[in-house]
Amino acid sequence: MNLNGKVCIITGSASGIGKAIAERYVADGAKVAIADLRLDAAKATAEELTKNGKGEAIGVEMNVTDEAQVNAAVQQVVDHWGGVDVLVSNAGIQIVHKLENFPYDDWKKLLSIHLDGAFLTSKAVLPHMYKAGSGSVILMGSVHSKEASPLKSAYVTAKHGLLGLARVIAKEGAEHGVRANVICPGFVKTPLVEKQIPEQAKDLGITEEEVINDIMLGGTVDKEFTTVEDVAEIAHVFAAFPTNALTGQSMIVSHGWFME
Ligand code: NAD
Repeated sequence: MNLNGKVCIITGSASGIGKAIAERYVADGAKVAIADLRLDAAKATAEELTKNGKGEAIGVEMNVTDEAQVNAAVQQVVDHWGGVDVLVSNAGIQIVHKLENFPYDDWKKLLSIHLDGAFLTSKAVLPHMYKAGSGSVILMGSVHSKEASPLKSAYVTAKHGLLGLARVIAKEGAEHGVRANVICPGFVKTPLVEKQIPEQAKDLGITEEEVINDIMLGGTVDKEFTTVEDVAEIAHVFAAFPTNALTGQSMIVSHGWFME
């Protein structure tokens, strides 16, 4: 199972989990488009990965909620490398508030990045995968695709929704050799999570240490954060798996926080 020469688009990969997935793919010989809001950061990441990996990377500008920009960026990748084999729809944000205080604009913004982003990027790559008769779509879910937490109504709603989208892509894509799966990580220390620690402490009236030990890691088997490398390994399996046997699934990587 390897990704040698495979063309992969990873959204939100200028930093955090997406960057680690890109690094894992490039180390395995893949051609990876670092698709991010911030073109400078995407290009810098691509340059760094190309220097260190077996494969290569390019940076492309993509706001996943902008249909024209998504289509243009996917076309740019197809023009450059001839097709798309793997999509990792990973771009995401977190906004935490109690439901009664949740600003409607924040609700719409979060749902749009997670759900419209996954829809638009999948819609843009599928015709290329169907033409090739193969492909792997990977959506970045979360333990919050399976479990709820206070303050996270928009995030939990969006992450649950991604399971449904992946299952439909799996059913529609099967006859074209296209698979779709969801990765469900527990807490990973990235900028997205660092930002939540003081916010949750304030909203819940507890210390930052209590947020980490009780809320974020309280349910794990060993009080450990999941790492970006752990998530990248699962993303590698979903991308490189050789047959349609592995489709319509979700894999939880969370130090046992959620078991099923
Ligand atoms: P991060 O903040 O480190 O990285 C997110 C990236 O997405 C950034 O590079 C940002 O520029 C990009 N981005 C944001 N909005 C975008 C948009 N509209 N278009 C294109 N790019 C955009 O976050 P992360 O922790 O690496 O999260 C990545 C994904 O993993 C998210 O979907 C998140 O929900 C999910 N996740 C994270 C954790 C965690 O604990 N960190 C756990 C489970 C799931």
